[in-house]
Amino acid sequence: MIQNCDVLIIGGGPAGSIAAVKLLKAGHSVTLIEKISFPRFVIGESLLPRCNQLLEEAGLLDVIAAAGFKFKGGVAFRNEDNALKIVDFKDNLGQKHNSSFQVRRETFDHLLLKEAEKLGANVIMEAEVTAYDPKENTIEVRNKAQEMTVYRAKKVIDASGYGRVLPRLLNLELPSSLAPRNAIFCRMEHDKRTPDQPEGYIYVYVVGDNDAWIWNIPLSDSVTSVGIVSSDTYFESFSLPLEDFFDHTIRNNTHAKERYAEAQKINTVGYIGGYSSKVKNMFGEKFVMVGNATEFLDPVFSSGVTLALESGSKAADLIIREFQGKRIDWQVEYEDYMMVGVNVFKAYVEAWYDGRLQSILFSKKETVEKIEQKIVSVLSGYVWDEKNMFVHSPEASIDAIYALLKN
Ligand SMILES: Cc1cc2nc3c(=O)[nH]c(=O)nc-3n(C[C@H](O)[C@H](O)[C@H](O)COP(=O)(O)OP(=O)(O)OC[C@H]3O[C@@H](n4cnc5c(N)ncnc54)[C@H](O)[C@@H]3O)c2cc1C
Repeated sequence: MIQNCDVLIIGGGPAGSIAAVKLLKAGHSVTLIEKISFPRFVIGESLLPRCNQLLEEAGLLDVIAAAGFKFKGGVAFRNEDNALKIVDFKDNLGQKHNSSFQVRRETFDHLLLKEAEKLGANVIMEAEVTAYDPKENTIEVRNKAQEMTVYRAKKVIDASGYGRVLPRLLNLELPSSLAPRNAIFCRMEHDKRTPDQPEGYIYVYVVGDNDAWIWNIPLSDSVTSVGIVSSDTYFESFSLPLEDFFDHTIRNNTHAKERYAEAQKINTVGYIGGYSSKVKNMFGEKFVMVGNATEFLDPVFSSGVTLALESGSKAADLIIREFQGKRIDWQVEYEDYMMVGVNVFKAYVEAWYDGRLQSILFSKKETVEKIEQKIVSVLSGYVWDEKNMFVHSPEASIDAIYALLKN
């Protein structure tokens, strides 16, 4: 027998949960299929102020704010020449939110999913979407006991993240234009936080001459998430097992060496490679893809959860209007809209790896105050604010500031 619902969501990460919450609040029935049992770990622990705004709009900020996550006020970039650049979110263009959180994703994602469940979502855990028929809009789901159920929905949202269910099933995958990179990561306990490392920031240490970078995300007073991101070529040049590469990189970076001298790993070293991804298109007549199931860029500016919440939220708003009988132009209102933000972050990611952005950030020359604010606004996740020239023309603006500061 076929089970019917208004919207079927594949995946219970932030993109899926925020979409579910908005749809349920608008009175629609939601079935959410999640492959594994929660709480589950996923990488991506540092959020941006734009996340707070999206959570607030969905009525989810209070529950996240009450969970005791570490406050995040900005980003501190440090290179091997000991140059320090603090980007404080308070210096953005006056946007409503100017701080966020550093979160254990196993807790954060579970809290959001439980909110969807409280509102009446039919959440089916440890069940996997295995097939999709776009004509009939039917989805096949295999549960833990290997039983198959078929669902029919008016609309399907693919929020399967790294699972990339519909891109795989519908042959919509495209290679990313970004170079392949690796991330090797671990949680460490009892790192030394010196007085020149004020609380409330994610610390980004540049390794060598921009060979790699290390994220340092304080998750509690004593636990820090540490990750090393490098190109394939750099990583492979060491021919070291993961843990040895991790230890070697930490020992050989001026700042990490000091910070982790007495710290201990509290879990096994993890790895994710070739994580950047792209799709041919983000929607079809009866489905829409959100979050990492669409395009994922790079972790350097912590943009992943922001894009997941933005797309999940936007897709839900458009479905609600469509169910009210309004005509939706999914190309313009969804895909083109999302690509504005994605392309801004992409320009920043490219400028980070080719060194232009680091020259700007670490420059000792003064820029006009407004320029600084505009960059901070982008790094806060406000990448749809077309009044900001760094959103409107990201490449040209970065090039112009780079040329100005270089001379
Ligand atoms: C190295 C690295 C570091 C990162 N650091 C950051 C960071 O600091 N800040 C940040 O904002 N982002 C970061 N990210 C990005 C972040 O991980 C993602 O953008 C974010 O998790 C996307 O959320 P989502 O809801 O789209 O997908 P996910 O959080 O991946 O959730 C998808 C869910 O779908 C489920 N699923 C998969 N397949 C199926 C199936 N067949 N059937 C049913 N369910 C399925 C999965 O089990 C999963 O629970 C990082 C990424 C990488 C690679």
